[in-house]
Amino acid sequence: MCGIVGAVAERNVVEILLEGLKRLEYRGYDSAGVALLDSDGNLTRLRRTGKVQELADAVANESALGATGIAHTRWATHGGVTEANAHPHFSSDRIAVVHNGIIENYLELRKQLDNAGYTFTSDTDTETIAHQVHEELKSSDDLLSAVQKAVKKFHGAYGTVVMDREDPSRVVVARSGSPLVIGLGLGENFIASDQLALLPVTRRFIFLEEGDVAEITRRTVKIVDIDGNPVERDIVDSVVEHDAGDKGGYRHYMLKEIHEQPTVVRNALKGRLLDNGLAEGIFGQGADELLAKVQHVQIIACGTSYHAGMTARYWLEQYANVSCNVEIASEFRYRKSFVQPNSLLVTISQSGETADTLAALRLAKELGYMGSLTVCNVPGSSLVRESDLAFMTKAGAEIGVASTKAFTTQLTAFLMLTLALGQHNGLSEEDGKSIISALQSLPAKLEETLLLSEGIEDLAEEFADKHHSLFLGRGDQYPIAMEGALKLKEISYIHAEAYASGELKHGPLALIDDEMPVIVVAPNNELLEKLKSNVEEVRARGGIMYVFADKQANFQSDETMRVINVPHCEAPIAPIIYTVPLQLLSYYVALIKGTDVDQPRNLAKSVTVE
Ligand code: GLU
Repeated sequence: MCGIVGAVAERNVVEILLEGLKRLEYRGYDSAGVALLDSDGNLTRLRRTGKVQELADAVANESALGATGIAHTRWATHGGVTEANAHPHFSSDRIAVVHNGIIENYLELRKQLDNAGYTFTSDTDTETIAHQVHEELKSSDDLLSAVQKAVKKFHGAYGTVVMDREDPSRVVVARSGSPLVIGLGLGENFIASDQLALLPVTRRFIFLEEGDVAEITRRTVKIVDIDGNPVERDIVDSVVEHDAGDKGGYRHYMLKEIHEQPTVVRNALKGRLLDNGLAEGIFGQGADELLAKVQHVQIIACGTSYHAGMTARYWLEQYANVSCNVEIASEFRYRKSFVQPNSLLVTISQSGETADTLAALRLAKELGYMGSLTVCNVPGSSLVRESDLAFMTKAGAEIGVASTKAFTTQLTAFLMLTLALGQHNGLSEEDGKSIISALQSLPAKLEETLLLSEGIEDLAEEFADKHHSLFLGRGDQYPIAMEGALKLKEISYIHAEAYASGELKHGPLALIDDEMPVIVVAPNNELLEKLKSNVEEVRARGGIMYVFADKQANFQSDETMRVINVPHCEAPIAPIIYTVPLQLLSYYVALIKGTDVDQPRNLAKSVTVE
């Protein structure tokens, strides 16, 4: 979550650090801070609650300088959103620390450090890192060994960067559960929680692995692993093309990303989907052999990715004849579960750093799954590195906190996985052909669907003063209703619940009145007649409905029902197509309500804490 940027250079690094923080802003945060150290050992710290721009203004006013520095955007987990709790945290004006994640045993450590005479000035768990390192430094040769000793005492998932006023030539970093990447420059080196932060200064990166502790100077990088043994990590040239500053003329990243969907889905299909099936080896080396043996799929994900997994279950069972379970990662990782024979574990995550999903993958390895596949958007991310197989969604950098194009490319990926698994499990020729032709038509259908924008903009007016809403769908549209409800909650703060419409009579019908808009997704499929009965149940109770429907479904607008005709599409891609109008609806409702669309309150983009 939140962000870390650090630098060891000869020039003043403050602008590099601030630019890095700005590039990570999209992840969501509540305060920002920077600490700078010059070669004479002068240590300056500035912190602000609110936006990075407020910190940048403060930096400009104070003309802060330093060739070594660390900076942070905080997403509070321990202690309120105050300047005193913002990072960097200091120990006696000597040690400065920024930290992502959580130190779970901080209370116990805090007590010990308190007894040892350290003064705490914040309510955070992070401050224990600063004091603990300071304490270890008393019996260590250097900062690297002090940090190595300190991290042995920390429980939890975190990434941290430590700076010592008495040695401006280096910073020491530690990775345990939260990503950190070292950026290599010429006579200067950098550290960040995401390579995006460093793209203006370098494209050469070292991705730290779990347990790594590294010492970074202007010219050297020394890495030790969890056992303290020196290790070499590969240098990777970044392939990321994204410029985080570019909204491409759109008012928000989210709108830009919604409109990018035809292009990114085309990219996701390119070179992978052929007229008669899938290109060879698209799931990676050894995949064909592994996939041929799969009889069961266990999908693990969180949030929007979980909805992609739920949709995938309908496809995998209906077309590929493979049984499938889907579970939220934070539940899966803390309960006893049984592994079916010949089970493939599939994780889904936009960032590839989702803490719960990563932990679930690690647990699954112990449980004895036949293999693991991740469907992910970020090359080189932890899930990609730690899974046996990785299928990249190729959506490009997604900046809006509310996921849009990552979701539709995940779904595209799962239709290809359905083809791949289906070919070993009796996928009918007819279904195979229909999935292929549906996928081929998908980019153009998405373009056509985006034309609904204007009508939906008008519709959004009717939602702006509502406090609750209900989304209904059946079959593979049920997870799409869930995703629609999640989007509306995330960015417009309207309470939204999704139900499989057959469930209405088992409770939610009690909620229906004219203050509770009901949104229905209704492609023309075999469940249409059932869905129509559910719609009548709502109408009979005075509900106001907004029905996104195929023209052939024959819904008519009247005083209680507004029908929005969605372009006709082939059945396998209907969940992808019906996602788009719901994304647009939440976007325009949020716009009318004036919320922070790209960085909704309390949320972060890449959820690296559990
Ligand atoms: N747990 C730390 C805090 O609350 C770090 C949170 C973060 O990842 O930004 O300050």
